[in-house]
Amino acid sequence: MADDPNDEAPRRKAARQGRPASSGTDSRAGALEGRDDPTDLARRVLAGDRRALARAITLIESVRDDHRAAAETLLGLLLAKSGRSIRIGVSGAPGVGKSTFIEAFGLMLIEKGHRVGVLAVDPSSERSGGSILGDKTRMEKLSVVESAFIRPSPAGGTLGGVARRSREAMIAVEAAGFDVVLIETVGVGQSETAVARMTDLFMLLIQPGGGDDLQGLKRGIVELADLLVVTKADGDLKARAERAVGDYGAALHLLTAAEGGWTPRIMAASAVTGEGMEAVWRAVGDFRAAATASGAFAERRRRQGVDWMWDEVFESLKAMLRADPEVRAMLRALERQVTDGAITPTDAAGRLLAAFMGAKSDT
Ligand code: GDP
Repeated sequence: MADDPNDEAPRRKAARQGRPASSGTDSRAGALEGRDDPTDLARRVLAGDRRALARAITLIESVRDDHRAAAETLLGLLLAKSGRSIRIGVSGAPGVGKSTFIEAFGLMLIEKGHRVGVLAVDPSSERSGGSILGDKTRMEKLSVVESAFIRPSPAGGTLGGVARRSREAMIAVEAAGFDVVLIETVGVGQSETAVARMTDLFMLLIQPGGGDDLQGLKRGIVELADLLVVTKADGDLKARAERAVGDYGAALHLLTAAEGGWTPRIMAASAVTGEGMEAVWRAVGDFRAAATASGAFAERRRRQGVDWMWDEVFESLKAMLRADPEVRAMLRALERQVTDGAITPTDAAGRLLAAFMGAKSDT
């Protein structure tokens, strides 16, 4: 595919600054221009152009009204060509080895002829002001490979907002021909649930500790997992990792249940030596075969769509509510009254909603 003339400027600028013009990691460079015609952008994304894909996602992430409208058109054009990937959620506490794992796993899959997209859901920046997943330089080897596309988590925003943009980005990544999509998230807040609801398989990475560590794992998150991988199964940690597989394995059947023909599995792997990585991919294949045969795969996809629709409804309602002048006029006073204990939160919510509904019925 011919180079996009639109990207000339950023490329020259990058050269001047002595950094590589283009890598698999989209730098959110390429500021949006009015000339990003969604039809043309869609054509280039469908042809597998990674730069066009990066621009498409920039458009998707933009909150400007005109961009939003263009993004809707774009997504409408891409949707029919999406969905043909396996969507894998990858979660685990900071330091467990997520980025090292995803890089090694991604490179292995690319060796096998796959095209791998990596997206992230990281609402941590909302609270801490800094993102847990995005700050360090990550996956340097994977990011320069032609068959990979890595997109960090959109900056800031609520979990709902970040998840919404990641879902739309996933559609674009799939439409560009990436057949394995890894969606990374960190063990913070509700992000695992959000990622589990948008993926086909949820993989939880855990530290090679003893059985005691199981106490530290949030039960609700273990219950989401289709596959548990004990990381760093190499060198001094190898024996501990293998012991952990035994310990966790014994407890696992108490926490998880066979569903849709699949019983969650646990295994050890090393992203450094590569040992166990093939087995993880085989387990993904086994999962897919079992879930497809039982109909659970199709059912999850159907649910992903319906969940998305409702999330979209709730997010849009929230945005409309917050933007509503009647609501805004009352908000501060009501918040103060709630804080002072003058009225109950339920009462305050009722008044806000009444004002909102009243305003809606007037229009
Ligand atoms: P993340 O915060 O979950 O993304 O974790 P990182 O991928 O940044 O890894 C955290 C630390 O664990 C780093 O120092 C890695 O070098 C190390 N690490 C990750 N995977 C492995 C592995 O398979 N074996 C060993 N020995 N170290 C690993």
